[in-house]
Amino acid sequence: MSNCIFCKIVNGEIPCNKIYEDDKVLAFEDINPGAPVHILVVPKQHIQSVLDLNESNKYVTVDIFDAINKIAKMLDIDKDGFRVVANTGANGGQTVAHLHYHILGGRSLQWPPG
Ligand code: 5GP
Ligand code: ZN
Repeated sequence: MSNCIFCKIVNGEIPCNKIYEDDKVLAFEDINPGAPVHILVVPKQHIQSVLDLNESNKYVTVDIFDAINKIAKMLDIDKDGFRVVANTGANGGQTVAHLHYHILGGRSLQWPPG
């Protein structure tokens, strides 16, 4: 999608600190980290949010969670633990309308979030 920040990151128009990439998924550091480790994992295909998953695109979530598994081990947050979050819509605090999963780790996180 032409005016989507994360599509622009996927196609290289906007730079990122890339952490992981495969044919379906890209992961990069959040520009405004909320924890010592703060990675965004996105499908390369433009999907607006969790609500736009459907029969034809839903398997990308498996690719995303495969990537999260690898990234957690790669960044050494697997033993202490971490959080995976997909903010959705206005009340969820979603600010970028391209499906993304935050990986937050490297410190103890509060629950529930604000
Ligand atoms: P949301 O608020 O939609 O759950 O998460 C969007 C995230 O994208 C925010 O944490 C924000 O810091 C991050 N972000 C927004 N624009 C950019 C950008 O251009 N580059 C990177 N790396 N992260 C971004
Ligand atoms: Zn997009």
